[in-house]
Amino acid sequence: MIVLTLGEIAELTRGRLDGGAQASTSVTGPVVHDSRQVVPGALFAALSGERVDGHDFAAQVTAAGAAAVLATRPVGVPAIVVADVVEALSALARAVVARLGATVVALTGSSGKTSTKDLIAQVLPHLGPTVFTEGSFNNEIGLPLTALRAGEDTRYLVLEMGARGLGHIRHLAELTPPRIGLVLNVGAAHAGEFGGREKTAQAKGELVEALPADGVAVLNADDPLVRAMAARTQARTLLFGESPDAQIRAADVRLTPDGRPSFTLHTPSGHADVIMKLYGEHHVSNALAAAAVAHELGLPAPEIAAALGQAGPLSRWRMEVTERADGVTVVNDAYNANPDSMRAALRALVAMGAAAQDRGGRTWAVLGEMAELGEESMAEHDGVGRLAVRLNVSKLVAVGGREAAWLRMGAYNEGSWGEESVHVSDAGAAVELLRTELRPGDVVLVKASRSVGLEKVAAALLEES
Ligand code: ATP
Ligand code: MG
Repeated sequence: MIVLTLGEIAELTRGRLDGGAQASTSVTGPVVHDSRQVVPGALFAALSGERVDGHDFAAQVTAAGAAAVLATRPVGVPAIVVADVVEALSALARAVVARLGATVVALTGSSGKTSTKDLIAQVLPHLGPTVFTEGSFNNEIGLPLTALRAGEDTRYLVLEMGARGLGHIRHLAELTPPRIGLVLNVGAAHAGEFGGREKTAQAKGELVEALPADGVAVLNADDPLVRAMAARTQARTLLFGESPDAQIRAADVRLTPDGRPSFTLHTPSGHADVIMKLYGEHHVSNALAAAAVAHELGLPAPEIAAALGQAGPLSRWRMEVTERADGVTVVNDAYNANPDSMRAALRALVAMGAAAQDRGGRTWAVLGEMAELGEESMAEHDGVGRLAVRLNVSKLVAVGGREAAWLRMGAYNEGSWGEESVHVSDAGAAVELLRTELRPGDVVLVKASRSVGLEKVAAALLEES
């Protein structure tokens, strides 16, 4: 981060120095809200959560070398006392970003934000120093803390923005005004929460509304609701996708024999072949989005293609492929699920299993609920169950309650599946079943919405080896 004195911080946050804090003391370390991350010179933001109150850690972080605590009340150690810590962080981030020369790239969408952010984070360093959101730390706390990690030499600040409702993205975009705004998709994900796809589009589109006239809206040409956002921005638009009119386009999209997507990347400055390291064809769209951002910032197509081909997963539980010592392959995609990513994951599973099938290995889809689908829930679960049969997945293990029953019914109704599909009540039961059934050569996909917690299944399976 850039070095600020406590006096400067107090001024920017309209706070007052307390507990012996000296105006001339410099904050040289990061701004953090987790006491375990405090290093000498850090500024500790005392946030009050449901279970812990950051103020209780004041003495501890001071002993660990924190320059001061950002707090809402005196804490007996050097502090900057402000009215609201989250507001103060925002004010600080806004001031720091304005002072830096970095280009801010913000992205949102229903799914694939973190995957795409991680891809961008592995491509842009080819152009210059890049700071990016860690994991999915994409709200009004994560955003300023990420922005405050940027330093004098940072050229690109890549920020994931999650939308919790109307007005949220607008607020986030005011904190750290982006020059490049990327919208990935408006899927069915969170449809229940927002009250329909139109509403979701309304909320996500706030990102492009916030762009300046000399900014760029990077939009998914294949998603009609995203494409329509071009009318809501004064910025120039850059389209990506498989649509023929997309400026950043993928052609010849295929899966390699082991399930990784490959395609030819076309940009206005040339084309190049990409073979990804990540599994699942939904990453083609994410890769194109990353390519569009990199193209806009001046990276030539061959370099973009090479960087995309080297990019690996940075955030956990997203198509993490591990082969056990006994030859069972576990594909952990338990981070989250929606109908699109379920279908993509099943196709990747089948591609990965193709080689194994010759050797007698089987493909297992261990699937749980896709949450927040509202009225479409039954049909979507049924559809995924049916697809598993059509793709010839060897075994379907549906985990959970009503939704899992729908998954299994879909499979059952699509084919004459009896033993090929089972319904178990929870993760523990799934593990027990797999423990006895798995044999060398099998490939197991584990996937469900976040709330189901199926990563426990993947973890248990990997402990075995
Ligand atoms: P969150 O809202 O939880 O932060 P996110 O938008 O950051 O999610 P990711 O973490 O990248 O999304 O991926 C979440 C899930 O969505 C993964 O399980 C993945 O399989 C799926 N996914 C990733 N990219 C896409 C895409 N382009 N289209 C559909 N599904 C996708
Ligand atoms: Mg995320």
